[in-house]
Amino acid sequence: MTPNTDLNIPLFERAKALIPGGVNSPVRAFKAVGGTPRFVKRAQGAYFWDANDQRFIDYIGSWGPMILGHGHPAVLEAVQSAALEGFSFGAPTEREVELAEEILSLVPSMEMIRLVSSGTEAGMSAIRLARGATGRSKFIKFEGCYHGHADSLLVKAGSGLATFGNATSAGVPPEVVQHTIVLEYNNVAQLEEAFALHGKELACVMIEPIAGNMNFVRASVPFMKRCRELCTEYGALLVLDEVMTGFRVALGSAQSVYAKSIPGFKPDLTVLGKVIGGGMPLAAFGGPRAIMEHLAPLGGVYQAGTLSGNPVATACGLATLREIKKPDFFDALSARTRSLVDGLAAAAAAEGVPFSTDCEGGMFGFFLMPELPQNYAQVLKTDSARFNQLFHGLLDRGVYIAPALYEAGFVSAAHTADDIAATVAAAREVFKTL
Ligand SMILES: *Cc1c(COP(=O)(O)O)cnc(C)c1O
Repeated sequence: MTPNTDLNIPLFERAKALIPGGVNSPVRAFKAVGGTPRFVKRAQGAYFWDANDQRFIDYIGSWGPMILGHGHPAVLEAVQSAALEGFSFGAPTEREVELAEEILSLVPSMEMIRLVSSGTEAGMSAIRLARGATGRSKFIKFEGCYHGHADSLLVKAGSGLATFGNATSAGVPPEVVQHTIVLEYNNVAQLEEAFALHGKELACVMIEPIAGNMNFVRASVPFMKRCRELCTEYGALLVLDEVMTGFRVALGSAQSVYAKSIPGFKPDLTVLGKVIGGGMPLAAFGGPRAIMEHLAPLGGVYQAGTLSGNPVATACGLATLREIKKPDFFDALSARTRSLVDGLAAAAAAEGVPFSTDCEGGMFGFFLMPELPQNYAQVLKTDSARFNQLFHGLLDRGVYIAPALYEAGFVSAAHTADDIAATVAAAREVFKTL
């Protein structure tokens, strides 16, 4: 496509005149990879079409929610009939109760749940609840994990364990992040040292069990086990941010994967989003009754939302969950995802490109380096120029992966064996040129 016939370009110009950077969420702007973002016109199944009507095989799926692919008939039906009954009431509905029942039956660590509209809101509210329930202020997060853009979470590590983090965004005063301790992911010794120093003042440890915001890095089993043990020992809450992994890596979410290796494993609080809304604005946080009853109107921790539990969003989420809990859904999705990463690894090996990859359920990641990284510092060693070449090579061939190397990829139930084969063939062509 020559630049003067690419219809994405004038759209991006119009957008940039009105919306900062031309986008409503930064990574969409292609800043890391360069070039013009594709403006999506419509999507169906595993594909979307851009302003030029070029088709792309979609491995983002709205950054995770579209686990059934786009426009699944049962989901469309549910959304259309819910919309006919009304968009929003600001009063309770039966569907909120049904969705709560559905989620709690699939993730038994939660006895109660509160529905909100975004993962950011859910994560922020979970921290407030952890602080309110424990009466403590400090909490631990890990470098490279993303929990939404609440002020106290936009923090990177300080110069040492005794110091607190530094804000990663302008507009976040130092006083707001003074209680946030940022540690290295998968570093047991550092975690133990931080608990020895601050354990009795910690409200919670917040963690992505499989960190999808540094591409794909698993918390090791010994690390997760130590997080759980130390939280229990010191009376801090373990908060699993499963906004990305929830109902994506397994029907029981990532916590069910860890429970296979750590008997009895469960978090105190779980944060959900993405898949539970099926593409509509919906997120949630939940946990044991004794903790959740600290929330208003029962308890003193305030939390509210005009559109929370929205009737159209809950219809979309409910229809999505009812599809993914059908027998064999996750076995088939896992096998498809596995076939993609195995195919990519074989293509890279055939072309002599250093490559490592991992996946769980319908979520995958890969790195243009021989060994899978264990923490953010190691992820940063990826050759970004090479990744950008790969990204654009795939894009030119109609394959859309995340436009930044720090992001996981997603396979949906709509991706066929032919889609996977076409993707692997395209990747092999691009690997030849790297
Ligand atoms: C996407 C994401 C969030 C933020 O969710 P939004 O709906 O974008 O606010 C929080 N935590 C994790 C792990 C995420 O992947």
